[in-house]
Amino acid sequence: MDTEQLYVEDSYLREFDAAVVRAGPRFVVLDRTAFYPEGGGQPTDHGTLEAGGEKHNVVKVMRRGQQIFHYLDGDIPEGTTVHGVIDWERRYGFMRLHSGEHLLTGLFEAAGSGPKVFSSFSQLDFKPSPLDEETMQGVRRRFDEIVDTDVPVRIYYVDRDQLDVGGDERKQSFLEKMPPDVERLRMVQIGEHALTFCMGTHVKRTGEIGRLRNLRLEPKKKRRKIVYFEL
Ligand SMILES: [Zn+2]
Repeated sequence: MDTEQLYVEDSYLREFDAAVVRAGPRFVVLDRTAFYPEGGGQPTDHGTLEAGGEKHNVVKVMRRGQQIFHYLDGDIPEGTTVHGVIDWERRYGFMRLHSGEHLLTGLFEAAGSGPKVFSSFSQLDFKPSPLDEETMQGVRRRFDEIVDTDVPVRIYYVDRDQLDVGGDERKQSFLEKMPPDVERLRMVQIGEHALTFCMGTHVKRTGEIGRLRNLRLEPKKKRRKIVYFEL
């Protein structure tokens, strides 16, 4: 039985009820879950599953095919009804950083600073790129302006064969790695500033991301660059 992914439609859902449809030593698969499994650059959620007055810690969540496995510090038998609670402070921090990374990427793309090859919650790696301090300052100013104007983050779906990544190598390689059965892509759009496909969890408005506390450029060999950021 597939796990219904409640976080896809509502990334603000913190608690839910579900049934255990598969169980093993220190893991369960649920019929539905709000726990985000690690993937797409976003780490696993933590939290608890409560069953019959007993609370178990969820220490790791992973997706295998269409099922989502919750790894626990104890056992819960198949057929049990559980109440799940997400560690919200952890998740909300990831949502802010991840949404901030989309916005930063969009702003660097708009500044023509060359394709990114790797990104995480704290850094963006660029291939040989003309990126300089002046561009950095411009991106930093734009980022904070967009945070202050509280732009909505829009989620919508497109058919895979209708998506045009416009020669962006990084998006093209993501697209190629996606399983062939994924026919519809979930798009994340931040005003005019950022657009990409992503299955992760995002905040609803840029005001929630918060201003940049730090944005720092580190030149590497052969004109490669790393940009570090903090919110
Ligand atoms: Zn995303």
